[in-house]
Amino acid sequence: MAETIFAKILRGEIPAHKVYEDDRVLAFLDVNPLSRGHTLVIPKEPAETLDQLSDESSAAIGRALPRIARAVLKVTGAKAYNVLQNNGPGAHQAVFHVHFHIIPKLDDGSGLGIGWKPIKLGDDGATLAAAIAAAAK
Ligand code: AMP
Repeated sequence: MAETIFAKILRGEIPAHKVYEDDRVLAFLDVNPLSRGHTLVIPKEPAETLDQLSDESSAAIGRALPRIARAVLKVTGAKAYNVLQNNGPGAHQAVFHVHFHIIPKLDDGSGLGIGWKPIKLGDDGATLAAAIAAAAK
Protein backbone atom coordinates (compact mmCIF):
# COMPACT_ATOMS: atom_id res chain seq x y z
CA MET A 1 0.00 0.00 0.00
CA ALA A 2 1.31 3.44 -0.93
CA GLU A 3 2.21 5.93 1.80
CA THR A 4 -0.65 8.27 2.73
CA ILE A 5 -1.13 11.45 4.71
CA PHE A 6 -3.21 9.45 7.21
CA ALA A 7 -0.29 7.07 7.84
CA LYS A 8 1.77 10.14 8.73
CA ILE A 9 -0.97 11.32 11.12
CA LEU A 10 -1.07 7.83 12.70
CA ARG A 11 2.71 7.95 13.24
CA GLY A 12 2.46 11.47 14.69
CA GLU A 13 4.61 12.92 11.91
CA ILE A 14 2.05 15.58 10.98
CA PRO A 15 -0.49 17.19 13.30
CA ALA A 16 -4.20 16.49 13.47
CA HIS A 17 -7.02 17.62 15.73
CA LYS A 18 -7.71 14.23 17.33
CA VAL A 19 -11.16 13.57 18.80
CA TYR A 20 -11.02 9.82 19.58
CA GLU A 21 -8.44 7.04 19.78
CA ASP A 22 -8.40 3.39 20.81
CA ASP A 23 -6.05 0.53 19.96
CA ARG A 24 -7.51 0.07 16.44
CA VAL A 25 -9.19 3.38 15.55
CA LEU A 26 -8.30 7.08 15.30
CA ALA A 27 -10.67 9.99 14.60
CA PHE A 28 -9.74 13.58 13.84
CA LEU A 29 -11.21 16.72 12.30
CA ASP A 30 -11.17 16.97 8.50
CA VAL A 31 -8.77 19.74 7.47
CA ASN A 32 -11.18 20.96 4.75
CA PRO A 33 -14.56 20.41 6.40
CA LEU A 34 -17.89 20.51 4.59
CA SER A 35 -19.41 21.71 7.86
CA ARG A 36 -18.29 22.47 11.42
CA GLY A 37 -17.43 19.23 13.19
CA HIS A 38 -16.74 17.21 9.98
CA THR A 39 -14.74 14.31 11.38
CA LEU A 40 -12.77 11.45 9.82
CA VAL A 41 -12.72 8.02 11.46
CA ILE A 42 -9.93 5.69 10.32
CA PRO A 43 -8.67 2.22 11.20
CA LYS A 44 -5.05 2.05 12.27
CA GLU A 45 -4.70 -0.92 9.92
CA PRO A 46 -3.32 0.28 6.55
CA ALA A 47 -6.07 -0.84 4.15
CA GLU A 48 -6.80 1.21 1.04
CA THR A 49 -10.50 0.41 0.66
CA LEU A 50 -13.24 -0.99 2.89
CA ASP A 51 -13.37 -4.38 1.17
CA GLN A 52 -9.70 -4.91 2.14
CA LEU A 53 -10.23 -4.29 5.85
CA SER A 54 -9.89 -7.13 8.40
CA ASP A 55 -12.87 -8.27 10.46
CA GLU A 56 -11.13 -7.04 13.62
CA SER A 57 -10.65 -3.48 12.33
CA SER A 58 -14.14 -3.48 10.80
CA ALA A 59 -15.65 -4.40 14.16
CA ALA A 60 -13.62 -1.72 15.92
CA ILE A 61 -14.70 0.94 13.40
CA GLY A 62 -18.31 -0.21 13.76
CA ARG A 63 -18.12 0.21 17.53
CA ALA A 64 -16.49 3.63 17.33
CA LEU A 65 -18.64 5.28 14.64
CA PRO A 66 -21.89 5.69 16.63
CA ARG A 67 -19.96 6.94 19.66
CA ILE A 68 -18.11 9.58 17.62
CA ALA A 69 -21.32 10.53 15.77
CA ARG A 70 -23.05 11.14 19.13
CA ALA A 71 -20.17 13.36 20.24
CA VAL A 72 -20.22 15.36 16.99
CA LEU A 73 -24.00 15.85 17.26
CA LYS A 74 -23.74 16.92 20.90
CA VAL A 75 -21.02 19.49 20.26
CA THR A 76 -22.29 20.94 16.96
CA GLY A 77 -25.99 20.85 17.80
CA ALA A 78 -26.68 19.18 14.46
CA LYS A 79 -29.90 17.17 14.22
CA ALA A 80 -28.84 15.40 11.02
CA TYR A 81 -25.62 14.08 9.58
CA ASN A 82 -24.22 11.89 6.81
CA VAL A 83 -21.66 9.11 7.08
CA LEU A 84 -19.71 8.95 3.83
CA GLN A 85 -17.16 6.34 2.87
CA ASN A 86 -15.49 6.60 -0.56
CA ASN A 87 -13.63 3.71 -2.22
CA GLY A 88 -11.53 4.21 -5.32
CA PRO A 89 -10.76 7.31 -7.41
CA GLY A 90 -13.94 6.78 -9.43
CA ALA A 91 -15.90 7.17 -6.19
CA HIS A 92 -14.12 10.37 -5.10
CA GLN A 93 -11.56 8.72 -2.83
CA ALA A 94 -8.54 11.01 -2.58
CA VAL A 95 -6.67 9.50 0.38
CA PHE A 96 -6.02 5.78 -0.04
CA HIS A 97 -6.38 4.72 3.57
CA VAL A 98 -9.90 3.64 4.62
CA HIS A 99 -11.82 6.48 6.24
CA PHE A 100 -15.38 7.32 7.21
CA HIS A 101 -16.57 10.92 7.05
CA ILE A 102 -19.05 12.03 9.73
CA ILE A 103 -20.55 15.21 8.26
CA PRO A 104 -23.05 17.24 10.29
CA LYS A 105 -25.88 18.84 8.31
CA LEU A 106 -26.28 22.25 9.90
CA ASP A 107 -29.06 24.83 9.86
CA ASP A 108 -26.90 27.17 7.76
CA GLY A 109 -27.14 24.59 4.95
CA SER A 110 -23.54 23.38 5.29
CA GLY A 111 -22.83 19.68 5.06
CA LEU A 112 -22.87 17.05 2.36
CA GLY A 113 -24.74 17.71 -0.90
CA ILE A 114 -25.80 14.54 -2.66
CA GLY A 115 -26.48 13.96 -6.35
CA TRP A 116 -28.75 10.90 -6.16
CA LYS A 117 -29.94 9.66 -9.54
CA PRO A 118 -31.65 6.28 -9.11
CA ILE A 119 -32.01 3.82 -11.98
CA LYS A 120 -34.59 1.02 -12.28
CA LEU A 121 -33.81 -2.19 -10.40
CA GLY A 122 -34.74 -4.17 -13.49
CA ASP A 123 -35.89 -7.72 -14.10
CA ASP A 124 -32.67 -9.37 -12.95
CA GLY A 125 -33.05 -8.35 -9.28
CA ALA A 126 -33.43 -11.92 -8.04
CA THR A 127 -30.45 -13.17 -10.08
CA LEU A 128 -28.33 -10.23 -9.01
CA ALA A 129 -29.21 -10.69 -5.32
CA ALA A 130 -28.46 -14.42 -5.50
CA ALA A 131 -25.08 -13.77 -7.13
CA ILE A 132 -24.08 -11.21 -4.52
CA ALA A 133 -25.36 -13.44 -1.71
CA ALA A 134 -23.23 -16.32 -3.01
CA ALA A 135 -20.17 -14.07 -3.29
CA ALA A 136 -20.69 -12.78 0.26
CA LYS A 137 -20.45 -16.29 1.79
P1 AMP B 1 -11.88 11.28 0.37
O1 AMP B 1 -12.27 12.08 -0.84
O2 AMP B 1 -13.03 10.46 0.89
O3 AMP B 1 -10.63 10.45 0.15
O4 AMP B 1 -11.58 12.34 1.50
C1 AMP B 1 -10.31 12.65 2.00
C2 AMP B 1 -10.50 13.70 3.06
O5 AMP B 1 -9.29 13.84 3.78
C3 AMP B 1 -10.86 15.09 2.52
O6 AMP B 1 -12.11 15.51 3.07
C4 AMP B 1 -9.70 15.98 3.00
O7 AMP B 1 -10.11 17.26 3.39
C5 AMP B 1 -9.18 15.17 4.19
N1 AMP B 1 -7.77 15.41 4.51
C6 AMP B 1 -6.72 15.38 3.66
N2 AMP B 1 -5.58 15.64 4.33
C7 AMP B 1 -5.93 15.80 5.64
C8 AMP B 1 -5.21 16.11 6.83
N3 AMP B 1 -3.87 16.26 6.82
N4 AMP B 1 -5.89 16.21 7.99
C9 AMP B 1 -7.23 16.06 8.01
N5 AMP B 1 -7.97 15.78 6.92
C10 AMP B 1 -7.33 15.66 5.76
